[in-house]
Amino acid sequence: MKYISTRGQSQARTFSQALLTGLAEDGGLLLPEEYPQIDDMTLHQWRELSYPDLAFEIISLFATDIDRDDLKGIIAKTYATQTFGTSDVTPVRTLSNGLKIEALSNGPTLAFKDMAMQLLGHLFEYVLSRDQQYLNIIGATSGDTGSAAEYALRGKQRVNVFMLSPHGRMSDFQRAQMYSLPDHNIYNIAVKGMFDDCQDIVKALHNDADFKQHYHLSTVNSINWGRIMAQIVYYFKGYFAATLSNEQKVSFCVPSGNFGNVLAGHIARSMGLPIHRLMVATNENDVLDEFFRSGRYVPRTADQTFVTSSPSMDISKASNFERFIFDLLDRDAAKVRQLWAQISQGQGFDLSDLLDKIHHRYGFVSAKSTHSDRLKTIAYLYREENDLIDPHTADGIKVALALREAGEVVICLETALAAKFESTIHEALPGEKINIPRPEALAGLEDLPQRVVVLDNDASAVKNYIRQQLDQSV
Ligand SMILES: *Cc1c(COP(=O)(O)O)cnc(C)c1O
Repeated sequence: MKYISTRGQSQARTFSQALLTGLAEDGGLLLPEEYPQIDDMTLHQWRELSYPDLAFEIISLFATDIDRDDLKGIIAKTYATQTFGTSDVTPVRTLSNGLKIEALSNGPTLAFKDMAMQLLGHLFEYVLSRDQQYLNIIGATSGDTGSAAEYALRGKQRVNVFMLSPHGRMSDFQRAQMYSLPDHNIYNIAVKGMFDDCQDIVKALHNDADFKQHYHLSTVNSINWGRIMAQIVYYFKGYFAATLSNEQKVSFCVPSGNFGNVLAGHIARSMGLPIHRLMVATNENDVLDEFFRSGRYVPRTADQTFVTSSPSMDISKASNFERFIFDLLDRDAAKVRQLWAQISQGQGFDLSDLLDKIHHRYGFVSAKSTHSDRLKTIAYLYREENDLIDPHTADGIKVALALREAGEVVICLETALAAKFESTIHEALPGEKINIPRPEALAGLEDLPQRVVVLDNDASAVKNYIRQQLDQSV
């Protein structure tokens, strides 16, 4: 399988190359040159497979330059009961109103990003050792991505993680999660600034070609192809859990920000999985909802982005969106280049003439949820169903209830656990004595010693720190 750029001006890559690089040289995103097609017979055979076996069948279609036996071992090691809590890995439960919830958040950091990031950790280590390479992952986080990356790469050979976070701006839980890791290849840097400042510093480091090359910088951000690929698996798994035969169709409802999660659903559907509709749920930052209703995509700036109680969806420029547009335009890379040139000039684009194709051929629909919807939905599920959900999942449930048609089976993806967002849970259920369950391994997390360095909001301060740490260890 070869990987091509959505902008059509980069050389095709192998899977391993796509895994280790972020953007293509032409600024586009990498996609498989075609989506493998799964026929009815194969789908039937896959129905009974365990999560790791199913993951192997799907991932081996994409990761074609990894030795098959090695890949099988890596996947078995990744999707283990001890990492994800159950042998099902992504169990599906049904509410009394008929909605289904697929649990994706039982990994080490209690958010769905572990589903892909845990695999990436093992794949990175494998490819780096096979190819005798070293990497330093530099990233910025406002919460979930950074911790998922650190837990995936902690203690791995040939790779270090330098993770920038805004000093004093994350929840106690999120801070404790990242800063308490004792592993020597994990470096936490708290920057005296905001999340956007952290991102700007990361960009500045990557734009310094000499520094980047000398220190083998890379990223594991949400555009990494390996992450999208790993996420395709749980759409198949959820489909099999919710149906008895391949004649049935289901819809998925996905709390969305950077469009990485629901893009994997689009690819599963393109491979032939009988998905009826893909429901995109946004919060108050509704740039995607605007597109799927009107066909107009108008990214917003950082100061037009709201800080909400579902913070991992506070995104106004969806980095994976370009991959869907490439498919929507029948893979016309010249047209994608033209649209993203408009975006880089601060304009949006208008594809309202394709709305029918977006809705009917690709099955996309959308709606948004607000702070008060979120609180009401959390309270409703707790009181009526005795089911405690997190604010992001609540956005999904609210949207699924609004969009569901008679007879439609909808699987809502659970993207985080309530334990990560205790204050919003208490706000939703004021005065009630609720016990927010937390996995045993995380008991007393906030009391563990923390390792973090606080640096000025300045790219050269961060560079100096990285130099010091890496030159020392050589
Ligand atoms: C990252 C994240 C999302 C958004 O997923 P995208 O792939 O960026 O669309 C939703 N909910 C939670 C809890 C997340 O961590």
